[in-house]
Amino acid sequence: MSIPFDQYEAVIGLEVHAQLQTNSKAYCADGTLFGLSPNEQVSPISLGHPGTLPVLNRSAIDYAIKMGLATNCEINHFNAYARKNYFYADLPKGYQITQHTTPICTNGKVTIEVNGQKKNIGITRIHMEEDAGKSIHDIDPFHTLVDLNRAGVPLIEIVTEPDFRNADEAYEYLTLIRKLVRYLEICDGNMEEGSLRCDCNVSVRKKGASEFGTKIEVKNMNSIRNVKRAIEYEIERQITAIEAGEKLYQQTRSFNAANGTTFDMRSKEAANDYRYFPEPDIPPFIVTEADIETVRQSMPALPEELFARFKTEYGLSAYDAGVLSDDRFIAEYFENLVGESKNYKQAANWVMGPVKSYLNERAIDIKEFPLTVAHINSIMQLVETGKVSHTVAVQKIYPVLLENPGKDPLQIAQELNLIQESNAGAIEELVKQALAKFPEKVEEYKSGKTSLVGLFMGEVMKLSKGKADPKMANELVIKYLNA
Ligand code: ADP
Ligand code: MG
Repeated sequence: MSIPFDQYEAVIGLEVHAQLQTNSKAYCADGTLFGLSPNEQVSPISLGHPGTLPVLNRSAIDYAIKMGLATNCEINHFNAYARKNYFYADLPKGYQITQHTTPICTNGKVTIEVNGQKKNIGITRIHMEEDAGKSIHDIDPFHTLVDLNRAGVPLIEIVTEPDFRNADEAYEYLTLIRKLVRYLEICDGNMEEGSLRCDCNVSVRKKGASEFGTKIEVKNMNSIRNVKRAIEYEIERQITAIEAGEKLYQQTRSFNAANGTTFDMRSKEAANDYRYFPEPDIPPFIVTEADIETVRQSMPALPEELFARFKTEYGLSAYDAGVLSDDRFIAEYFENLVGESKNYKQAANWVMGPVKSYLNERAIDIKEFPLTVAHINSIMQLVETGKVSHTVAVQKIYPVLLENPGKDPLQIAQELNLIQESNAGAIEELVKQALAKFPEKVEEYKSGKTSLVGLFMGEVMKLSKGKADPKMANELVIKYLNA
């Protein structure tokens, strides 16, 4: 029996947890660094010992507001915290302090683009909460170990409406969310280290049905690509099960990256198992319009705005504008370079080409790049004024400059004897030599084989050791061939 996959559609909603890059934890002064030895950042407050009291971290609130503004949410003025009770070894207090009925941000939307189609995704809410510690099952063969460094690190949870209809849309959304948290510098967006995590809620229904199908939650994907794989697998699995007459029930499944499948983790707890109640140790607090305005003022231009500016003001292609606005600090570098050079396309090519390859090869970010925009601008000047060709600039001068950022590019060009020959007399001599070397090819050219210009150009460039101004050489070669 073949399975009629195309009679179904998927419905997907995403819950993203982002670890906030604050210096201290959500409700106490313990540090938040990743990768320390276990249990180095754990005070009695993180452990919830009797007599300790949590205190709100103001930065965490500002970060949540930033994300709310970046995703077009309403920012709610009245904020309260609740205790979400459950028992687990990595949760020393026995409850998580979270926002329950009063999420700080609600009713937002972001726009994604898939295959040239724009689509809005509704943001149901963003609320603040705290992370749990980490249980480690694979070090000791007989015991589970626990590292509480992460316990109490502030999180925001970003919940979408069930607006996605396929895995590609989810992929684009997560790429956008990661870009936004990095632009805002509120989270490092690293899925491998778990600072950005995504739970996918997936259901399927017959096309045209008005009710949603049974929702299944999938966890433990450590990359955006794996989220896509998990959703694709899950859609196919659910349709296959329904077609085989199985009844699906709500459950939480885990993704196995090794073989691209999902497996049952637990059937979902009902919401009231958590016995939420208002957190007695943190009074509700008010976010004022003035607070929101202060946060708004502190925000950088967002990728969408930069993309539009690069396209319309600088006349770049959508592709170039997309690459350059992908990372906030690359975009800033590019804008500074444009400010110096006013040569938009050249500047774009330098940043997207030589600069980005250097960063990619070393897996570093632009903040660690050794050359200032003034450096790149002076190399660009050498090309623009015809002193060196673009190829020589990229292949010969740029690598030397990277090693010696103190040097002047012009000086490097002179020392390496790279200044282009743009003296017509000198080039004419070389053209004559080149023609004299291949008299029979000159005849072939004259009888119509015009592609031979390339051969003579090659010869002239060789004779000049790559230093002849190619434009001038080309003109002279043609002039002499037609003489
Ligand atoms: P829960 O209380 O189980 O966490 P929520 O109603 O808070 O459920 O929804 C969690 C996420 O699941 C949201 O992103 C929402 O859009 C999504 N969702 C809700 N119902 C469905 C469904 N039938 N299929 C797919 N996703 C769903
Ligand atoms: Mg939920």
